[in-house]
Amino acid sequence: MHSRSAEERRAELVELYREAAVCARCPLSKTRTKVVFGAGNADADLMFVGEAPGVHEDQQGLPFVGRAGQLLNKLLEEIGMSRDDVFIANVLQSRPPGNRDPQTDEIDACKPFLHRKIELIEPKAVCTLGNFSTKLLTRSQRGITSVHGRPQVHELGGRLLRVYPLYHPAAALRSTKTLDELREDFARLPALLEEPPPVPIGAVAPVAAVAAEPAEPAPPTLFE
Ligand code: URA
Repeated sequence: MHSRSAEERRAELVELYREAAVCARCPLSKTRTKVVFGAGNADADLMFVGEAPGVHEDQQGLPFVGRAGQLLNKLLEEIGMSRDDVFIANVLQSRPPGNRDPQTDEIDACKPFLHRKIELIEPKAVCTLGNFSTKLLTRSQRGITSVHGRPQVHELGGRLLRVYPLYHPAAALRSTKTLDELREDFARLPALLEEPPPVPIGAVAPVAAVAAEPAEPAPPTLFE
């Protein structure tokens, strides 16, 4: 269930894109070639959030168009999905020079854009790719090695949704062990998308609420 029609939400996403295209909230605006807002289905059930644009993304203004992007496409294909089914964004919309790590002030400046994208797209699940997006969206310092492949429920963009941390595809290009683990985590994505929406602690799950006279009171549904 979405709060508003896909058309209304897409129109606001286009407005947000116009704002991002001229954004000068951090110094990366002076060195970037193009803003990389994100791309894909504005009404997607699934979003991916990477780290920051690299050299190819900066030139084309599109996310994940280099080697890591090709791997992402392949992994999506292996689970019967394509980029047209999902929306792909990054923590940062502008390329850090020399592909250095994003800095805290840059993340803080760009964060409202990411949260608004999640609010407008209303995905069922957000896959964080690598440490930066995982730490930002899970609001935790726990690194990707210990949290990958296990969904967490978080409030993002004003709704409860599942955050599913994954290794960054660039890391999987450097290690076959990481690639194997990323592939295993990807294989669990279709089932994750079939799960009913998460329910807050203490709330009665919709299915329990409509069930006919349970013999005993239904237990509350907890966060995963
Ligand atoms: N790596 C990222 O994190 N994002 C991109 O868009 C490309 C590479």
